[in-house]
Amino acid sequence: MRAALVDRLRANGIDDERVLASILVVPRHHFVDEALASRAYEDAALPIGHGQTISQPWIVARMIAAVRHGRELGKVLEVGTGCGYQAAVLAGVAREVYSIERVRPLHELARGRLRAMRLPHVRLVFGDGMLGLPSAAPFDAIVVAAAGLKIPDALLQQLAPGGRLVAPEGGTRQRLVMIERKGAHNWVRTELEPVRFVPLRPGVLL
Ligand code: SAH
Repeated sequence: MRAALVDRLRANGIDDERVLASILVVPRHHFVDEALASRAYEDAALPIGHGQTISQPWIVARMIAAVRHGRELGKVLEVGTGCGYQAAVLAGVAREVYSIERVRPLHELARGRLRAMRLPHVRLVFGDGMLGLPSAAPFDAIVVAAAGLKIPDALLQQLAPGGRLVAPEGGTRQRLVMIERKGAHNWVRTELEPVRFVPLRPGVLL
């Protein structure tokens, strides 16, 4: 089923074979409730509790391929761990993955699921990802999995020169936005396709 999902992603324009290889090995059904496991290889978002969702595989692949841009990735930051699926896919294409979640029970859930997969180079952090993770910055890539009206400035500052950030932007109408940091004071913005994400919210929930 996973191979069929990868074929579908490829047919739908995902051409980064490293990303597809990572999707091929990550058991998405481990990241959703047992009752939904039979739907884990549909190319669809699914509920994970606390009003949040596991992102659609195509979106996960699209965002990671966009920030990777064919490069080997060193340090990567994900904002919005959710159930941890995208962090596990990122683990297949980056040397070090940091992922922040603001909802404590989801952070704990992701921790349990990723522990079972033994990915020592993935570090999960409980906190407000709108502030980024200054202690681990700068990042070669930043992937934001929740939509804000504007991309937080802290994240743009924590992008390494030459690095890329991808994030959904907007309220009821959202668009995926890619930002490339060309230099200390130079960020270049490209708008990608319309998307639908859960909202990016400040602060934490215990
Ligand atoms: N990356 C997930 C998608 C999770 S949905 C996947 O692999 O499918 C987006 C997540 O972002 C939600 O869990 C939500 O709680 C979280 N989120 C929203 N605002 C946040 C913030 N400011 N900091 C950290 N996480 C945030």
